[in-house]
Amino acid sequence: MNPALLEHAQRAATKAYAPYSQFQVGCALLTAAGNIFTGCNVENASYGLTICAERNTIFHAVAEEGPGMRITSLAVIALGQEFPPCGACRQVIAEFAAPETPIWFLRDGKPLAMTMAELLPASFRL
Ligand SMILES: [Zn+2]
Repeated sequence: MNPALLEHAQRAATKAYAPYSQFQVGCALLTAAGNIFTGCNVENASYGLTICAERNTIFHAVAEEGPGMRITSLAVIALGQEFPPCGACRQVIAEFAAPETPIWFLRDGKPLAMTMAELLPASFRL
Protein backbone atom coordinates (compact mmCIF):
# COMPACT_ATOMS: atom_id res chain seq x y z
CA MET A 1 0.00 0.00 0.00
CA ASN A 2 1.09 3.53 -0.57
CA PRO A 3 -0.77 5.66 1.99
CA ALA A 4 1.26 8.75 1.10
CA LEU A 5 -0.05 8.57 -2.45
CA LEU A 6 -3.63 8.39 -1.20
CA GLU A 7 -3.03 11.42 1.02
CA HIS A 8 -1.66 13.35 -1.95
CA ALA A 9 -4.76 12.40 -3.96
CA GLN A 10 -7.04 13.49 -1.13
CA ARG A 11 -5.35 16.91 -0.96
CA ALA A 12 -5.57 17.29 -4.73
CA ALA A 13 -9.32 16.57 -4.61
CA THR A 14 -9.85 19.70 -2.50
CA LYS A 15 -8.53 21.76 -5.43
CA ALA A 16 -11.04 20.37 -7.95
CA TYR A 17 -12.97 22.77 -10.16
CA ALA A 18 -16.36 21.05 -10.07
CA PRO A 19 -19.09 23.74 -9.92
CA TYR A 20 -21.53 21.64 -12.01
CA SER A 21 -21.29 18.13 -10.54
CA GLN A 22 -19.85 19.00 -7.11
CA PHE A 23 -17.88 15.79 -7.71
CA GLN A 24 -14.38 16.57 -6.40
CA VAL A 25 -11.76 14.06 -7.49
CA GLY A 26 -8.03 13.95 -6.82
CA CYS A 27 -5.30 11.76 -8.23
CA ALA A 28 -1.66 11.15 -7.35
CA LEU A 29 0.86 9.01 -9.14
CA LEU A 30 4.42 7.88 -8.52
CA THR A 31 6.70 7.69 -11.55
CA ALA A 32 9.59 5.33 -12.23
CA ALA A 33 11.84 8.39 -11.90
CA GLY A 34 10.64 8.75 -8.30
CA ASN A 35 8.46 11.84 -8.71
CA ILE A 36 4.95 12.27 -7.34
CA PHE A 37 2.45 14.22 -9.44
CA THR A 38 -1.04 15.23 -8.43
CA GLY A 39 -4.08 16.53 -10.25
CA CYS A 40 -7.79 17.17 -9.89
CA ASN A 41 -10.80 17.17 -12.17
CA VAL A 42 -11.50 20.42 -14.03
CA GLU A 43 -15.04 20.90 -15.34
CA ASN A 44 -16.29 23.25 -18.02
CA ALA A 45 -19.66 24.79 -18.88
CA SER A 46 -19.35 22.83 -22.13
CA TYR A 47 -19.45 19.47 -20.33
CA GLY A 48 -17.54 17.50 -22.96
CA LEU A 49 -14.45 19.59 -22.28
CA THR A 50 -14.26 18.44 -18.66
CA ILE A 51 -11.17 16.41 -17.77
CA CYS A 52 -10.84 13.77 -15.07
CA ALA A 53 -8.27 14.02 -12.29
CA GLU A 54 -6.39 10.95 -13.54
CA ARG A 55 -5.84 12.25 -17.08
CA ASN A 56 -5.02 15.74 -15.79
CA THR A 57 -2.33 14.19 -13.56
CA ILE A 58 -0.88 11.94 -16.25
CA PHE A 59 -0.67 14.74 -18.83
CA HIS A 60 1.10 16.92 -16.29
CA ALA A 61 3.58 14.12 -15.50
CA VAL A 62 4.36 13.69 -19.21
CA ALA A 63 4.79 17.44 -19.59
CA GLU A 64 7.34 17.40 -16.75
CA GLU A 65 9.21 14.13 -17.41
CA GLY A 66 8.72 13.70 -21.14
CA PRO A 67 7.39 10.83 -23.22
CA GLY A 68 9.33 8.21 -21.24
CA MET A 69 7.25 8.85 -18.11
CA ARG A 70 6.13 5.56 -16.55
CA ILE A 71 3.61 5.10 -13.73
CA THR A 72 4.64 2.73 -10.92
CA SER A 73 1.60 3.39 -8.71
CA LEU A 74 -1.52 5.57 -8.96
CA ALA A 75 -4.22 6.56 -6.45
CA VAL A 76 -7.59 8.21 -7.04
CA ILE A 77 -10.00 9.58 -4.42
CA ALA A 78 -13.28 11.46 -4.64
CA LEU A 79 -14.44 13.49 -1.65
CA GLY A 80 -17.40 11.69 -0.10
CA GLN A 81 -17.51 8.98 -2.78
CA GLU A 82 -15.68 5.79 -3.66
CA PHE A 83 -14.90 4.53 -7.15
CA PRO A 84 -12.11 3.26 -9.42
CA PRO A 85 -10.96 5.25 -12.49
CA CYS A 86 -13.50 5.64 -15.33
CA GLY A 87 -13.07 3.73 -18.57
CA ALA A 88 -11.46 6.60 -20.47
CA CYS A 89 -8.88 7.08 -17.73
CA ARG A 90 -8.16 3.35 -17.55
CA GLN A 91 -7.15 3.43 -21.21
CA VAL A 92 -4.88 6.45 -20.64
CA ILE A 93 -3.32 4.93 -17.50
CA ALA A 94 -2.63 1.70 -19.43
CA GLU A 95 -0.58 3.66 -21.97
CA PHE A 96 1.94 4.59 -19.24
CA ALA A 97 1.66 1.64 -16.83
CA ALA A 98 2.56 -2.04 -16.77
CA PRO A 99 -0.12 -4.73 -16.43
CA GLU A 100 0.97 -5.29 -12.80
CA THR A 101 0.95 -1.57 -11.83
CA PRO A 102 -1.27 -1.10 -8.74
CA ILE A 103 -4.16 1.36 -8.98
CA TRP A 104 -5.41 2.44 -5.56
CA PHE A 105 -8.89 3.65 -4.62
CA LEU A 106 -11.23 3.40 -1.66
CA ARG A 107 -13.73 0.58 -1.21
CA ASP A 108 -15.88 0.48 1.94
CA GLY A 109 -13.65 3.14 3.48
CA LYS A 110 -10.45 1.16 3.01
CA PRO A 111 -7.67 1.41 0.40
CA LEU A 112 -7.97 -1.24 -2.27
CA ALA A 113 -5.50 -1.87 -5.10
CA MET A 114 -6.27 -3.56 -8.38
CA THR A 115 -3.69 -4.09 -11.07
CA MET A 116 -3.97 -2.34 -14.39
CA ALA A 117 -4.62 -5.71 -16.05
CA GLU A 118 -7.53 -6.36 -13.67
CA LEU A 119 -9.03 -2.92 -14.34
CA LEU A 120 -8.61 -3.05 -18.10
CA PRO A 121 -8.15 -6.56 -19.48
CA ALA A 122 -7.41 -6.79 -23.19
CA SER A 123 -6.65 -3.08 -23.41
CA PHE A 124 -6.32 -1.39 -26.78
CA ARG A 125 -2.68 -1.08 -27.91
CA LEU A 126 -1.14 -0.15 -31.23
ZN1 LIG B 1 -11.80 9.44 -15.82
